[in-house]
Amino acid sequence: MTRVMKFGGTSVGDAAAMRRTAAILEEHHAREPVVAVVSAMSGMTNLLLECGAAAVAGDSESVETARALILTPHRRALTELVPAGERRRQTSATLGSLVDEATRLLYSVYVLRELSPRAKDRLVSFGERMSSAILASYLNEIGVAAQQVEADRVIVTDGVFGNASPLLEETRERAAEVLTPALADGVLPVVTGFFGATVEGLTATLGRGGSDFSASILGNAVDASEIWIWTDVDGVMTADPRIVPSARTLSAISYSEATELAYFGAKVIHPKTMYPAEERAIPVWIKNTFEPDAPGTRISVEHEAGYSAKAIASISGLAIVTVEGRGLIDVSQVTTRIFSAVGRTEANVYMISQASSQHSVSFVVGGADRASVLAALGAEFREDLDHQRVLSLSEERDVAIVAVVGAGMRGTPGVAGQVFATMGAEEINIVAIAQGSSELNISFVVEETDVSAAVGALHRAFIADV
Ligand code: ASP
Ligand code: MG
Repeated sequence: MTRVMKFGGTSVGDAAAMRRTAAILEEHHAREPVVAVVSAMSGMTNLLLECGAAAVAGDSESVETARALILTPHRRALTELVPAGERRRQTSATLGSLVDEATRLLYSVYVLRELSPRAKDRLVSFGERMSSAILASYLNEIGVAAQQVEADRVIVTDGVFGNASPLLEETRERAAEVLTPALADGVLPVVTGFFGATVEGLTATLGRGGSDFSASILGNAVDASEIWIWTDVDGVMTADPRIVPSARTLSAISYSEATELAYFGAKVIHPKTMYPAEERAIPVWIKNTFEPDAPGTRISVEHEAGYSAKAIASISGLAIVTVEGRGLIDVSQVTTRIFSAVGRTEANVYMISQASSQHSVSFVVGGADRASVLAALGAEFREDLDHQRVLSLSEERDVAIVAVVGAGMRGTPGVAGQVFATMGAEEINIVAIAQGSSELNISFVVEETDVSAAVGALHRAFIADV
């Protein structure tokens, strides 16, 4: 049975990290077929995005220095890993032609002063193309039959640039053509994470942090026995250890719990990772490249029983935008207009809350999306605002969401009461509560300055003592 193993940016961040990663792959590949999925070297995706932003802004100097900035860390890792000779020369040529294409793309962006979602997706894909080329070359160097595979040949998507979703059946067919024969020959495919292609073959990314998602898409496609996400922490934790020093690693959580935790700010895994795995009941493990013997977290249908709440998550740096007014009473059309106006901004909406009086609807969005959401609502309701049918648009900055997550909360009466009583005892003001949240989580909004106290108190009340 095949195992899919994904390595994040820090696990391929430099030559030393790549050595550790290669050692893990070598060990597992000796026992069973492995498909590796890799992120870009840490910081590279952001660097590529910065280069794109500079080019579109007409910054010629940045465009000229981009090639060296992109190439240097890759060249350095290659030089440290592969001795001078034919193999290094070939991989170096591969890196050279990849960075040349990225540079030509940046020049076009600079000339046109335009960076379409489609061009941006192509641009950011070079980080994974380069890291995978180096890792595959080094694996060959240490005697592991490995082959770099660019995922636009395998993962077929719906073509929504910047946030593509996989077409799982089509991807399965491609995997059978591209990956299965390699695996049958004992070859270890080193696949680029983060992107796939449109049906026509244009590069389309799966969203930031999407390499985890790539791993589960590929796991689904090859009917993997397990998907291992190798990262730089021991697993999914009961809280962010920077906020709660006594937080511990969870040994087993369910797909739904993992999805909720990822959605509510646990950075360790991309929230979309779970569904392709769950569809074929493939367990997902979170493992630490730097502590490979630590047990990690197992994500599957089962979960650690006996806890009502399992983890406390939080997302900071948010804002609330509220539409308020008499016009909202019982006017479903207005609600539709509100949602479509916000939808057009492509802002990430974390939470929607509607006052029971139905006089107001609030959206919790990322701080950076606040202005565009306000502007979109302002434009949509310009006339109504003039006629005072929609009375007001307002905002509140510097807020955060706190979420208490756990499958055991379902059917355990009184958890919500206990959550809010705990907040009351700490004198923490609750700004908003989500409407119709899933039974797996209770989430609410607090002032940014209260996040640590809220998470700490909830961890003490629900987790530390059980
Ligand atoms: N390199 C991509 C990013 O930084 C994808 C990933 O690392 O998962 O978003
Ligand atoms: Mg990640």
